[in-house]
Amino acid sequence: MNRLYDILPFVPVPTEVADDLAAHGLSGLEQSALRALWHSTDMAALRDRLHAALEPLEADAAMRAGDALAAKFFNACLDVVGWELDPAWPERMRAQWLALQLAAVPVGLSARVASVVVTTLQTDLAAQRASLSALDAMLIPIVSRIGFFLVGLLDGAASVAEAQARLLAEYVEPDSGLPNRAALEQIFLPAEADEPSSAMLAVALMWGGSAIVLNSADRDRARIEVGRALAKRARAGDSLCRVGDDEWVLWAPGIGAGVRPQLAAAALLEAGEQAMRNVGLAAHATLAVGGALTPEDGGTSDKVFNAARRARAAALREGRTIRIAGPELELERAERVQIEREFIEALRNNAFDLHLQPVIQLSDGECAAAEALLRWQRADGSAVSPLLLVAMAEQFGLMQQLTRLVVQRATAMLSELSVQGVPIGLAVNLAGSDLRDPELPEFISQAIATWRIAPQRLTLELTEGSMIADDAQTMSVIARLRDAGHGVALDDFGTGYSSLAWLRRLPATRLKIDKMFVQKMPETAQDRAIVRSVVQLAQGLGLSVIAEGVEREEHLQMLRAMGCDAAQGFHIARPMPVDAFVAWWRHWNSEHQAAWPPVSG
Ligand code: C2E
Ligand code: CA
Ligand code: CA
Repeated sequence: MNRLYDILPFVPVPTEVADDLAAHGLSGLEQSALRALWHSTDMAALRDRLHAALEPLEADAAMRAGDALAAKFFNACLDVVGWELDPAWPERMRAQWLALQLAAVPVGLSARVASVVVTTLQTDLAAQRASLSALDAMLIPIVSRIGFFLVGLLDGAASVAEAQARLLAEYVEPDSGLPNRAALEQIFLPAEADEPSSAMLAVALMWGGSAIVLNSADRDRARIEVGRALAKRARAGDSLCRVGDDEWVLWAPGIGAGVRPQLAAAALLEAGEQAMRNVGLAAHATLAVGGALTPEDGGTSDKVFNAARRARAAALREGRTIRIAGPELELERAERVQIEREFIEALRNNAFDLHLQPVIQLSDGECAAAEALLRWQRADGSAVSPLLLVAMAEQFGLMQQLTRLVVQRATAMLSELSVQGVPIGLAVNLAGSDLRDPELPEFISQAIATWRIAPQRLTLELTEGSMIADDAQTMSVIARLRDAGHGVALDDFGTGYSSLAWLRRLPATRLKIDKMFVQKMPETAQDRAIVRSVVQLAQGLGLSVIAEGVEREEHLQMLRAMGCDAAQGFHIARPMPVDAFVAWWRHWNSEHQAAWPPVSG
């Protein structure tokens, strides 16, 4: 499927540059990989995006050192793209930097430039990963080394090796090799009000009284393993810093507000706990995560860091392990108790609803499936967002019950739909903890047996964020569901923490591209490219692809032209109660589908 990897060793690198790269620890294979990555990248577009990302820094530098100097330096900086084709580039870059430095450079600019370059390359190359899955694993170390190289270069040291040593001493915590508190300071960038929020998630490992029996080597080993496990959870563009013996901070730029930081915190917590189990010390310590956002909770690294720590302290006071500062999910204690009571009551009374949202096939417009989405209306008439509902169920330890209720409802609904002459399939959503419930596959098989439903009609959706990559139990639950004949869909694809290499191992049958990418397709070429390559890659792996968040006719047309299999979104229909759905379905399949135009090229 992917032959790039095979030809890598034959992509030559000019020798002078090869030496430079080798001086930064890039192996021959990594150098070839870098070259192959450039080759398969739209360099002009990458330059443009890098330019856009560097612009704010340029403005900052220009204010102090003058426009012309700053422009020259940043222009040289852009040539990092395709640098192995131009051996003179590092020297030119160094010269421009010196000039800028003499004219007064803002503090920390070198690290910021490196961080922006690294982040842009990572996101950009990551977007290309669809066709480069075998290079995937090499991407992160390569790009980080480019970052080191840049900082080394810019620090203007006599030798690159010296600069790197200085950099390591200043910004890297020696035991774990992770960036330290000073590095966090450098990479922090306040977000503006109109930008997506960035988050700091502060993780603490707290040793219990029983830890007194441990020797310090055991503790150190645990700390290293926890740090590693947390770092593995970082998305491309995130940085995990070690800020104390037993404390780490994940800096997640652009992660957005709302539930994403919450999910990221849960993922960190899970990873850390798993690491403690792996070293056999889980009984001696607990973990907690507090999060805070910029711009919401502050515009400086210190402010956000302290807010994250305060949130963590508040969580511990309340007997919880996760808390994100800010209004969302921060129910007042009294209200929380009230909601919890209602929630349990609702579970008991089966008071939750499932609404159905159609999924249509793009080849012929037929609606052969729908997604079942949880709805809860509280006694006072207010609706609770399903994301909040799921977060609460996880917090209260009631997820297993909630999921079973959803599965039961959905299977009963499938049977009822058949009776009404609507023999479609349904997809239900699973949460993270469901995948660690070894009895779930058995429960589902009993439910479909009770209602005499063919397993093919029930698909289970899971998000990347909810899964522990390579966790044997998770994988076995998924494999059992698929072997039983169910569809398994990877939901919200593109927003999580997984790599494509992992996707290849995941026994899924479908992939749902997150709405974030779909919605921006008409405006941004990059998102179009991502969607197109994800469609191709997924189909190459034998997965069918569903695009979410189709809100406009344009989205639909683009997706059809790309050969995407199916679509879901407000443009087609909103989630609706089952009765409304039946009426919608009859109407759609008689009127709309007949008028479906054939796919044009
Ligand atoms: P999801 O699985 O990604 O579900 C799709 C969400 O996108 C739904 O939000 C749906 O209403 C919304 N949506 C559909 N089309 C469009 C569109 O064109 N534009 C936009 N902006 N949004 C669109 P909803 O119903 O609020 O559900 C949110 C999330 O809650 C779901 O995201 C899923 O992660 C979770 N969830 C819902 N029901 C369940 C459930 O039964 N169990 C579990 N574990 N999670 C659930
Ligand atoms: Ca879903
Ligand atoms: Ca989704």
